[in-house]
Amino acid sequence: MNRFLPVIAWGCVAAALTACARSSSAAEEPPRAVLVRAERLDDGLLARSKARGANLIVVLVDDATTPLRLGVVGRAAARAEIAWAAWIEVGRCPSLADEHPEWMASPGNHHDDWRRLFPNLPKPSEHQAIKLWPWVPIGYEPAYEAQRQRVLELARRLPPSCSGLFLNDLQAGPSSCGCGNDQCRWALDYGTKPTAPKVASVDDVASRFVASIQTAFPDRLIVPVWTTECEDVDLPNAPDGTGLCGGVPCSKGDCWRRYVAAWNPLAKTVRGPIAVAAWSETFHRDPKTWPDAALALFQHPPRNATPLDDTRAFLAIEAWDKPEDAAFKLFEHYRTSSAGVLLALDKVDQSWTPKLIKATSNGEVKASAGH
Ligand SMILES: [Zn+2]
Ligand SMILES: [Zn+2]
Repeated sequence: MNRFLPVIAWGCVAAALTACARSSSAAEEPPRAVLVRAERLDDGLLARSKARGANLIVVLVDDATTPLRLGVVGRAAARAEIAWAAWIEVGRCPSLADEHPEWMASPGNHHDDWRRLFPNLPKPSEHQAIKLWPWVPIGYEPAYEAQRQRVLELARRLPPSCSGLFLNDLQAGPSSCGCGNDQCRWALDYGTKPTAPKVASVDDVASRFVASIQTAFPDRLIVPVWTTECEDVDLPNAPDGTGLCGGVPCSKGDCWRRYVAAWNPLAKTVRGPIAVAAWSETFHRDPKTWPDAALALFQHPPRNATPLDDTRAFLAIEAWDKPEDAAFKLFEHYRTSSAGVLLALDKVDQSWTPKLIKATSNGEVKASAGH
């Protein structure tokens, strides 16, 4: 059993997940994690991270990350005596999007407010559908299984010293209602013709996905990474509003109702921590104030949703455009927080581009149309 696992399993999580004895006092400390690309991790970065308070290294793992590279990561982490985990992007997946354009999310078309971001995009013809490249949500039945197999295959590349897996983007794609807000993640085919069948139960698809990966890797901590929904400040007439939802009253509409419908099964099923993606700059939020507000909203969602206490909440902060020193200062800012903190020193791409793909009038895709 990996001797570093207790460090990332604060609270009572370790006991629930593994037979690991929590022998070290470090086991009680909340995780302070640094997220980097596997290729960038070296002894210097490990030493600097540790010196500034990190007790967990998380590496971005994708199709291009080789087992050889992961072996190097594992040995470097062992030399530095620090726990490490992997981060896998699920929903935003260029390889599956190119292979199966019909599995891609749609930008939502019940509202076409998202079009203000792409003023020159033509309207789809009867034989076309607009898709959100490269987002392949697990809410589509064939995508669910393909994504599951992909994650399992990537996870099998990880050496035994890897303590856990962060799984990002298990909701629908950005702008899912058509409002244009990157955080609007609750809908599949809202006002657009489907080009792939949905799973039987969309609401608990993320929790089933996570449970399935957990079953395959019972000794690893599986941490889903969640995105909170559109906020009141994004409403069309909000004072000092962001305008992020265009003219759509998202936060007063279905967003949070459907968020909670997916959140409750996840919070119940997942035994360990769940992370919130506080990508402030990417989501056009104030990086000084929003991560704390996002964490509070995440831990106490509206509509009497299941709350998440500090020993299960992980705040993932965008730090990829910050100098390393400024990024590490964030650990000091959260010194007294008993929630986990993860600094993303390398980019977690959330971008999307609308693509017209060929589809028949009843929505079936004829063939790969590329992008
Ligand atoms: Zn919306
Ligand atoms: Zn929304």
